[in-house]
Amino acid sequence: MPSATLDTVATQFRFYEAQVVRTRRLGPTLVRVTLGGPQLTTFAGGGRDQSATLFLPAAGQPAPVVPIDAGDDWFARWRAVDPAVRAVMRSYTIRAQRPERGEVDIDFVRHGDTGPASRWAGRARPGDPVVLLGPAVPDNRAVCFRPPADAAWSLIAADESALPAVGAILDWLPAGVRVRAWIEVPHVADIQELRTPPGVEVSWLVRGATPPGSGLLRDTLRAARLPADIPYAWIAGESATVRGLRRHLVSERGVDRRRVTFAGYWRRGASEDHLRGESPAAAAA
Ligand SMILES: Cc1cc2nc3c(=O)[nH]c(=O)nc-3n(C[C@H](O)[C@H](O)[C@H](O)COP(=O)(O)OP(=O)(O)OC[C@H]3O[C@@H](n4cnc5c(N)ncnc54)[C@H](O)[C@@H]3O)c2cc1C
Repeated sequence: MPSATLDTVATQFRFYEAQVVRTRRLGPTLVRVTLGGPQLTTFAGGGRDQSATLFLPAAGQPAPVVPIDAGDDWFARWRAVDPAVRAVMRSYTIRAQRPERGEVDIDFVRHGDTGPASRWAGRARPGDPVVLLGPAVPDNRAVCFRPPADAAWSLIAADESALPAVGAILDWLPAGVRVRAWIEVPHVADIQELRTPPGVEVSWLVRGATPPGSGLLRDTLRAARLPADIPYAWIAGESATVRGLRRHLVSERGVDRRRVTFAGYWRRGASEDHLRGESPAAAAA
């Protein structure tokens, strides 16, 4: 989760009220939910892996209960509300934004009904209300893909939860940048058409019935022959896999740790509520 102090939250992020406009299945695993509304005409995402905090109605609530008028105090106020009533708070990537139409796309992994966000995405209908805590300025701390100017190439490794981020990173990529990306998905039909300008090579890893985070991405990267020149690395997905990959790059391949951006997007057996409990400051971002 991107970290930010409360004052950067106040200047870099703002609340946007929106509704579901339409949904589209992208494959067996991912569903695209397009959100829209007049407030999204000022949505100022920075592209790449721009993430936002999404608030969804708690079970039985008609709309997300979020103290959007509480200013910097919103997080404390949100926590003070009965957990059965307050909005469900989750992190998602902005796959695409069209401020001229007041729309943003979010691609959700459907990983079952135990996760409220996964369940919501599977049932989302036009008109369903949501709240986003999203970027007020394009250069904000929730954009983490930032290759140093002298990086010869970028290594990207992701599971399906970070596939939307990879897609948006490739959409943003300036001409002439070299990228090697490995993306793990459950099914062949989850493979997507991504923008691959010259210099960009994407390898899809299909894990089939094996549970996510069980090592396909890590083992593939370990065995890969990589260019010798200095890379930048961006790794996102299941937490333990991400940590293992970072360790491999830094300890076994000698990549400077400052050139590795890594983000645990989810953890096996733990809900995001649990993870946020561990890091309330990060949650406020
Ligand atoms: C910066 C950032 C950007 C993110 N972008 C996206 C995105 O664009 N699309 C996306 O789908 N996710 C994205 N995620 C991950 C998403 O926030 C988590 O998957 C979140 O836990 C989903 O909430 P939930 O309510 O469905 O499940 P939770 O209530 O959080 O968890 C319930 C159970 O489901 C399991 N679980 C959670 N996520 C997954 C998963 N992906 N696969 C299998 N099991 C899972 C948990 O381990 C837990 O056991 C992002 C996370 C971060 C931090």
